[in-house]
Amino acid sequence: MSSNPGFVFSDDFLIYHFNEEHPFNQKRVLLAKELLEASAMLYAQDIIPPRMATEEEIGLFHDRAYINAVKQADSLSEDEAYEYGLGTEDTPIFPNMHEASSFAVGGTLTAVDEVLTGRRDHALNLGGGLHHALQRKAAGFCIYNDCAIAIKYIREKYNLKVLYVDTDAHHGDGVQWAFYDDPNVCTFSIHETGRYLFPGSGNVSERGIKQGHGYSFNLPIDAFTQDESYLHSYETAFREIAKFFNPDIIITQNGADAHCFDPLTHLCGTMEIFNRIPQLAHELAHQYCNGKWIATGGGGYDMWRVVPRSWAQIWNVMKQDSPAKGIIPAEWRAKWQREAPIDLPKFWHDTDEAFPEIPRKKDITEKNNSLLENLLKYAKTIK
Ligand SMILES: [Zn+2]
Ligand SMILES: [Zn+2]
Repeated sequence: MSSNPGFVFSDDFLIYHFNEEHPFNQKRVLLAKELLEASAMLYAQDIIPPRMATEEEIGLFHDRAYINAVKQADSLSEDEAYEYGLGTEDTPIFPNMHEASSFAVGGTLTAVDEVLTGRRDHALNLGGGLHHALQRKAAGFCIYNDCAIAIKYIREKYNLKVLYVDTDAHHGDGVQWAFYDDPNVCTFSIHETGRYLFPGSGNVSERGIKQGHGYSFNLPIDAFTQDESYLHSYETAFREIAKFFNPDIIITQNGADAHCFDPLTHLCGTMEIFNRIPQLAHELAHQYCNGKWIATGGGGYDMWRVVPRSWAQIWNVMKQDSPAKGIIPAEWRAKWQREAPIDLPKFWHDTDEAFPEIPRKKDITEKNNSLLENLLKYAKTIK
C-alpha cells in the first residue's frame, strides 16, 4: 500500500506545557519521534514542520472573543478567565498559550494540506488531537480544537465529506458538538462510558440534530473493557459506519489512554489495540478515500511506557502497513531511562503485567455487545 506519509513535527510542539505537575505532557511527541528514529523508521525527509494557524483559521471554529481571551490570558481577571474555561485545574494558563495552541492547530492544517494537495498519502500530527475544546471554552487539557478547526477547513477549502474517528478513552465531545447538525461530517467516538469519566457525554443515543441527525455515533464502552471486546466493537462499528457514510477523507484522533496502565481512565487495553487501531483506519482510508487519512495524537497519560509505542505504531502502519514487532531499540531506552521514573518497555508488545484478571469480563462484553447492536441498527436504518 502506501509509502509516502508525512510526519508533522517541530520542537514548537513542546511549548504547549501547562506545568510540571500537569498530566498532559507533550514530551510524549518527542519520545515517539525519537523511538521511530532509533527504529530506523523516520528520517529527515519524512518530517514536515508545522505552521502556526492564523487567527482567521482558528476562527473557523472558535469565537473571536475566546481567541482574544486566550491571547490575553495573563491579564484576565479570575472571573473572566473562568468564563472561558481558562485558569482552571484542567486548563491552567501558561506562557505563550496562544502561540503553543496555534502550532498544534497549524500542525493538523499542515497535515491536511499535505494530503489534500497530493504531496503525501497520509499525514500524522501527534501534536494535535485536542478534541475537548469548545467553541468559546477551553476544556479537558485542550485550548484550541485542532480537529474541529481542520474539519471546518476541509469543508471550506476542499468541500469533502469527512469521517472523524476518535479512539481516545474520553468522549470526543468538542468535535461531535461542532458538527452535530452537519450531514457532511460524520463523527464516531469509542470511549469509556461517561458515567464516571470526563466529559460525561457520548451516550449511544447522541445521534445529531436537524440535517445532521444520524451522523453522530458513540460507543460508550464499560470500564475495564479488555482487548477482545474493545477491538470487536471498534472494528465492527468502524466498518459499518464507513460503509454507511462513504467518506472522502478520514481523520483519526489517537488518544492513547485506553490502556490498562493509563492513570486517568479505567479501560484495560494493551498494545494489541494500539497496533490494530491504525491498521483498520489505514485499510478503510484506502478502501473508501483513495488513502486520504490524517491522524492526530490526543490523550495518553502513561507517557513513558504506553504513549511512545502507541503513537510510533501509527507511523509504522502509515509507512509499511504493519506495526513494529520485537525489541525496542536499546539506544532509545538508554537515553530516556535516565529521566523516566519507571522502567521503559523492552518490547513493542506488552508483557504479563498488562493483562490483569478482570472478574466481570463476561458481563462487560455483553454490555458492550448490546451497545454495538444499537449503533449498528442506526447505521443500517438511516440512509
Ligand atoms: Zn497507505
Ligand atoms: Zn483522553
